[in-house]
Amino acid sequence: MTEAIDIAPGSEILESSLDVLHEVFGYDAFRGPQADIVSHVGAGGDALVLMPTGGGKSLCYQVPAIVRERAGQGLTVVVSPLIALMHDQVGALIEAGVAAAFLNSSLSLEDAQQVEKQMLRGELTLLYAAPERLTTPRFLALLDSLHERGKLSLFAIDEAHCVSQWGHDFRPEYRALVVLHERYAGVPRVALTATADDLTRADIVERLQLQEARTFISSFDRPNIRYQLVEKKDATAQLQRFIRDEHTSAEGHDAGIVYCQSRRRVEEVASLLNEAGFNALPYHAGLDAAVRQRHQDRFLREEGLIMVATIAFGMGIDKPDVRFVAHLDMPKNIEGYYQETGRAGRDGEPANAWMAYGLQDVVNQRRMIDESPAADEFKNVLRGKLDALLTLAEASDCRRVRLLQYFGESSQPCGNCDNCLTPPEMFDATESARKLLSCIYRVQQASGTAFGAGHIMDILRGKVTDKVTQYQHDKLSTFGIGADLSETQWRALLRQLIAREAVQVHDAPYNTLHLADAARDILKGHSTVRLKSLADKASGSVRSGRQRAARATVKDDGVPLSLSERECLEALKAWRAGVAREHNLPAFVIFHDATLRAIAARKPESLADLDGIAGIGQKKREAYGADVVRVVSAFV
Ligand code: ADP
Ligand code: ZN
Repeated sequence: MTEAIDIAPGSEILESSLDVLHEVFGYDAFRGPQADIVSHVGAGGDALVLMPTGGGKSLCYQVPAIVRERAGQGLTVVVSPLIALMHDQVGALIEAGVAAAFLNSSLSLEDAQQVEKQMLRGELTLLYAAPERLTTPRFLALLDSLHERGKLSLFAIDEAHCVSQWGHDFRPEYRALVVLHERYAGVPRVALTATADDLTRADIVERLQLQEARTFISSFDRPNIRYQLVEKKDATAQLQRFIRDEHTSAEGHDAGIVYCQSRRRVEEVASLLNEAGFNALPYHAGLDAAVRQRHQDRFLREEGLIMVATIAFGMGIDKPDVRFVAHLDMPKNIEGYYQETGRAGRDGEPANAWMAYGLQDVVNQRRMIDESPAADEFKNVLRGKLDALLTLAEASDCRRVRLLQYFGESSQPCGNCDNCLTPPEMFDATESARKLLSCIYRVQQASGTAFGAGHIMDILRGKVTDKVTQYQHDKLSTFGIGADLSETQWRALLRQLIAREAVQVHDAPYNTLHLADAARDILKGHSTVRLKSLADKASGSVRSGRQRAARATVKDDGVPLSLSERECLEALKAWRAGVAREHNLPAFVIFHDATLRAIAARKPESLADLDGIAGIGQKKREAYGADVVRVVSAFV
């Protein structure tokens, strides 16, 4: 154990931490494992924190940083890969009255030197830095100087999965962070991530030498997110219907993120949405850095924007009111899917995770793995991860149960996913699966070559196409034996057989179908296949009034705001927008919507009336309390 340089007994640390939580952040109580984490880290222990997005990771190092600084321990250094977001994160701390700064390549030399001076003079509680900066000789010399004087308090390594090649955001610079342990062995470290799969976790521990760290794992459940995975037909039309049905009201549409696989597709979808009257912006690595930054800023600062993006977008985006995340193409694996969908509903209010997927997605993802230059062993890991996601997509039972199971948690059906809300009707499709498998087999046997899905479906359904005639496939015993299922159903069946590894798709050159190991059991009748009977039903979205209520303004207790409360809320938002502009920060950094709603509901007439409203710490109360009371006074 890196036994703590105990600055105080655990209970005292918890008490000081609670004081900081109230005074600085304006919150009542720690959530979930936060209390244990801040006690442990505050006392100088190393920690590995695995918590889903929106779980409250920031406070796990910010509170100990403040507590330890107040106890004379000095500076906390936060390693973050997100240069573009450091400004807002530091801005939020300064708004709360915490001495914070960042060092990254966006600063001028002069400004950077200024920050270094502040750092050496002990004027900072938290310093955010990019990993490549941290391990430069110049920066290490600064840290040495603080360390010699006992003023290096804590290292927080955010987005720690970046150290692992198994994670989806591998950053080689993170590997060098092990120097922090080697050089400053006595300084506690807390590593945080929202990615919790076993491989990544083990890699973090090993790469960062966190063997002595205590691991804190929260439940990965995000109960406010509703999962919907639909079969892809006309994806962009389906997407528009989904946004119209579930995320549009008289005031406009909600903020959301739409993930696409390629840059070209991002551009296409963004302009399509704009033409259809939505407010959308593209984001991908092919855009100029300045354009990317501008689009990101607008997404964070304006209301009701849709970001259409590749996975280059989103890490660390702490916008609390993203109401939906849509995937127009299937991601690589469940970790990626969960991380991306996790960006919805950080504020804990209802949000949607919607994905359209089809056979082509499966083929594309397989091809990318096959064509990658990686070693076979590595490719097999990737294939296994893709299969797990496919199985989730094809599942007819609770999505959440399966997602959580993937992260090693057991749970009960959630009542808040498509399959729970509209349980699909299933029928035994083993016989059809056998027909499909034997058709693939016979065609290959008869012709000496394999064919793709379209042709196989044509044979099964007895369609006389040119190709069928050319190869005389109408003479096969399997020709026309599958007229009982629609093409959609055959495709669904095929996807399921691929997910179960009864069929493989060899991409070069024509995505041909081949029997794989699991085919034998199905052909022999040792295992059965079940299929959703109404494949068409899956194409829409789950309609329900509950999710739409997300946008309507309701108080904490679920009661809608009255007309005058709504007007008051609008006035508060207008005031907040002005302050945010003046400070060049996103509005939610000033006050969250939930805080403004609570103010509109309570209509405070004095500063004292602000007591107990979540999200108003001492500094914000001093800075904004009087303004808030003034804005509200028009509605009392
Ligand atoms: P993460 O980094 O884990 O995704 P954040 O640290 O951004 O999550 O926290 C998510 C949201 O929850 C933030 O808006 C934060 O202010 C809020 N939050 C975190 N901890 C608490 C708490 N103890 N009480 C109230 N709100 C909290
Ligand atoms: Zn469910």
